[in-house]
Amino acid sequence: MNEFKLDFYDTKVAFADKSDQELKKKFWLFKLLNSPLITNLGTKMTELAFRLKLPIKGLVKETVFKQFCGGETIEECETTIQKLGGSQIGTILDYSIEGKASESVFERTKNEIYRTVTRAKEDENVPFAVFKTTGVARFEILEKMSAKKELLKGETAEWERSKARVYEICSHAHALEQSVFIDAEESWIQDAIDSLAGEMMQEFNTEKPIIFNTIQLYRNDRFEFLKELHRKAKREGYILAVKLVRGAYMEKERARSEEMNYPSPIHADKQAVDRDFNLAIEYCLENYEEIAFVAGTHNEASVQKLAQLMEHKNIPHNHPHVFFSQLYGMGDNLSYVLADNNFNVSKYVPYGPVKDTVPYLIRRARENTSVTGQMSRELDLLTKELRRRGVSKTEQKNGN
Ligand SMILES: Cc1cc2nc3c(=O)[nH]c(=O)nc-3n(C[C@H](O)[C@H](O)[C@H](O)COP(=O)(O)OP(=O)(O)OC[C@H]3O[C@@H](n4cnc5c(N)ncnc54)[C@H](O)[C@@H]3O)c2cc1C
Repeated sequence: MNEFKLDFYDTKVAFADKSDQELKKKFWLFKLLNSPLITNLGTKMTELAFRLKLPIKGLVKETVFKQFCGGETIEECETTIQKLGGSQIGTILDYSIEGKASESVFERTKNEIYRTVTRAKEDENVPFAVFKTTGVARFEILEKMSAKKELLKGETAEWERSKARVYEICSHAHALEQSVFIDAEESWIQDAIDSLAGEMMQEFNTEKPIIFNTIQLYRNDRFEFLKELHRKAKREGYILAVKLVRGAYMEKERARSEEMNYPSPIHADKQAVDRDFNLAIEYCLENYEEIAFVAGTHNEASVQKLAQLMEHKNIPHNHPHVFFSQLYGMGDNLSYVLADNNFNVSKYVPYGPVKDTVPYLIRRARENTSVTGQMSRELDLLTKELRRRGVSKTEQKNGN
């Protein structure tokens, strides 16, 4: 019998819904991002230009924003939702404003996330909602709660209001039976997030996996943490739901631990991260009746491994407890090939005002430089498909 193996290099499937024009634009943009010098210079100039209120919104919106975001509002994301849906890929509307810290902004963000939960319920093409706790609670208060520090007068009420916002989103999701992810963030605020997410799971996951917490396997304690969460859920009688990721804050984590002189919570090397990520996938799949999980990754080996394990264990590709997810604009070869093979797959589609998505865009641009290896993979695939379609090299380079 032949071993089951997904062909992620089938670029005809991976780029089936992209026109030649779109592919050429993507190639041109990724080629630019491939240069660390241009990426560094570009990000600094973009930040400065927004601060100086220079009119660069149009340029950003037509280039990196268009590549990695769905639009500025839910309504502007509709074309993307329907286009991905046409290829059996779900959209996860990710309201991306970061670093804003006032009660009125937190309230507005909570209302917007509430709308994404409602929007998700209306449409099979939007399988999940998502939010970041720092979108509805102040970073410093999460940090204090995580460090078990005493809150100042006034902060206790603020903390209660923050928890109430998280509760409002989660109870709305529960009432609609709409699953929602809680993203993971920096380790020094994560204890507070984990404890909130734990309370929400305990209350709302008794019948179905509604609330998903996120586990960052680049942390050296998280595989154990996953097993502990599973034991707790079993003991207390609810369904554990988790999103497994490697983790997005490695440099920040390392810099802080060095500066403040404590052992880094991040594994010493990538190999250890890959090992724990794959162990976590195996563990969740062994317990797939009790754990609902999402593999949030662009790592081809991890995606292949999970697909193969499911096939090997005769678990239906579209089992309602197993999901794959990638970020919009990245890893299309994985998403489209998975969908073509009937696996549950979705993409985070960030949206929000252009200037507020800049931190997100900068993370994506940095992640996509040649240093990470991700970019050469994307460029190879684009080159392969453009060649297959007979697009000449000069046309390709000009991006027109
Ligand atoms: C759907 C989705 C949801 C996500 N949600 C979150 C979230 O809630 N919170 C969050 O933090 N991130 C989140 N991420 C981002 C994720 O954590 C990774 O940063 C990103 O996906 C890259 O990892 P990878 O598995 O795709 O690929 P890979 O390219 O295989 O791995 C890159 C990752 O490996 C780790 N790494 C690389 N080099 C080293 C090294 N030398 N030592 C130790 N570790 C190393 C880092 O985590 C790096 O990001 C999400 C990603 C996706 C696709």
